[in-house]
Parts: sequence; structure tokens; C-alpha cells
Amino acid sequence: MRSISGVTRLAGIIGHPLEHTLSPAMHNAAYEVMGVDCVYVPLHVVDECDLLVVLAAVRSLPFVGVNVTMPYKETVLCLCDEVAETATLAGAVNTIQCHDGRLIGYNTDGRGLVEALAADAGFDPSGRNVVLLGAGGAAAAALISLALAHANGITVLNRDEGRARALVDRVSGQLAGAELSSGSLTDDAELAVREADLVVNATPLGMHAGDPSPVPASWLRRGQVVADMVYGPLTTSLVSAAQEAGAVALDGLGMLVCQGATAIEIWHAEAGVQAPRDVMRAAAAAMLESHAHLREERDA
Ligand code: NAP
Repeated sequence: MRSISGVTRLAGIIGHPLEHTLSPAMHNAAYEVMGVDCVYVPLHVVDECDLLVVLAAVRSLPFVGVNVTMPYKETVLCLCDEVAETATLAGAVNTIQCHDGRLIGYNTDGRGLVEALAADAGFDPSGRNVVLLGAGGAAAAALISLALAHANGITVLNRDEGRARALVDRVSGQLAGAELSSGSLTDDAELAVREADLVVNATPLGMHAGDPSPVPASWLRRGQVVADMVYGPLTTSLVSAAQEAGAVALDGLGMLVCQGATAIEIWHAEAGVQAPRDVMRAAAAAMLESHAHLREERDA
């Protein structure tokens, strides 16, 4: 049991709802193993008025920082005192560092994805062609990090094609190198998906029982890496479809762990810490399992 003293620092996650978040389990397990005197708490924020109050408290209390999740990743961008360029480009902040009462915004989602692709699939985006399914905040963060990792071409496919086009138009002048294109998530997308080296699901499709795969298994193939950002459940329709097609399939847990580990490394940079990804993964997986048991009991 960890002891909390008068000098214990704070970290946390701002969002709503937070009932199913894995972050407190994952981060507290890391702090325990690292011997860092910090506690990570859920910060339920029900609306934007509350968000202002909570951010003011985060500024003045001994917080090292906070993570930000749905629905506030875009809103907090303009509430930070300073924002890293990658977060500005992504249009979303998922990690805030508190430094001398100042709030500095980062986005670690894209870095988390690129790190997980390397760690779990040995995949280097350099010179490769990518299809991103979805055009929201997570897709934007992935787009920026994959482009910075020298992907050759990135195609954003979205249900609302105009939103995909707007994302590509917004960032294309800022990112040298990768060829960016957009399209809709219809049958016209088949060729782009088939030819991609990497397909990433950045939509919530897969989170709910009975959700279809965002693309059919027949569009996927051996030799491809297919990464789902969804991690609850781990085996989504897309992950099953990718396995069926002989592709390398990744669930969203690796990305979740790596984005959280990067947040810890930003908050505790002065101590030069390296977050224990294996410990964080085990804690997150255990929490997922416990959520699944609770659901089974409730539905029985
Ligand atoms: P967001 O900003 O709300 O964007 C959602 C995107 O999904 C939009 O492009 C939306 O399309 C599309 N979409 C929603 N419902 C759809 C449906 N039924 N069919 C097809 N497309 C649909 O959300 P976000 O923050 O980008 O997050 C996206 C997903 O990534 C979430 O499931 C989130 O939990 C996950 N995520 C995981 C990690 C991780 O660490 N593993 C990190 C970040 C996010 P329209 O524009 O047409 O509405």
C-alpha cells in the first residue's frame, strides 16, 4: 500500500464520462513501481464551466499535470498558456504539464501510436503508405506523428468526407514530405485500403457489441499492419477481420500504454524517468478484464 503524505504530488485525467477509464490503474501502477511520490486521480468534469474551475485548481494545486480525454481534448487547446506545435497541428491536447502555475499542452496520442507500431509490430512508417479511418482528434494526432515519422502517403477516409478533406487541407501546408489525400469511407475506399501498408482505425466503431468493422475483411491482406485504436474490447470486428485476412493486427492497448507513458515522461522530465510500459500494460489489461467481469455479472 502506497503512503500519501503532505508532499505527494497529483496527476489525473479530465473527462466525462470516466467510469471506464484505464488511466488511473495504469498510471498508479507505474508510480508505485517507479517509486515516484505522485497519485493519479479521475477528475469528472461535466461541462465547460466545470472545466474552467478544474483547470484553475490544477494550476494552483501541486499537480505535475493532467491527461485530457473526451469531450475536452479540443476545448483545452485554447485554455493552455502554451501548446506544443504537434498538438496545435493536431488541433487537440491530451496531456497538460503544470510548470510554475503555467499549463503547457501536448498531444501524446500520435507518438503513442508510432511507438506501439514499432514495439508491437516492428513497423516503421518511413516510406510506407497509410490509410487512416476517421478524421477526429485521434486521427489528426496520428496523421501528424505518421507524417513526422516520414510516411510516404497518408489517406484519410471518413464517413463525413468533407471533414477528412478539411483535416488534410488544414495540415498539408505545415507538413513537408508525406503526400496527403482524403476520401469517404465507402466502396470507393477499397483500393486505398488494399494498397496501404498500414490501416489505422481512429473511429469508435468496435467499442460496442455488434459494431461492424469499419472496413470489410476482404479489403485487408497478408503483409499489412492493421491497428485499431479501440481497446475496449480488445478483439474488435476490425481486429478479427485483419486476423482473418492474415494481416498483423494490433489492438488499441499498446497505443494507450505508450501515450500514457509519454505523458509521465513529460511530467517528470526533470527526474529523467522512463515509465515502465510492461507494468502499465498489465495494470490496464487487468482493469479491462475486471470491467468485462462486471458487465457479465450485470447482464447475467
Ligand atoms: P472524435 O474526435 O469524436 O472522432 C470520431 C471519428 O470517428 C470521426 O471521424 C467520426 O466520423 C468517426 N465515426 C464516429 N462514429 C462512426 C461510425 N459509426 N461509423 C464511421 N465513422 C464513425 O473521436 P477521437 O477522439 O478521434 O477518438 C476516436 C477513437 O479513438 C475513439 O474510440 C477513442 O476511444 C479512440 N482513441 C484511442 C486511443 C488509444 O490510446 N488507444 C487514443 C485516442 C483515441 P464523422 O466525422 O463522420 O462523424
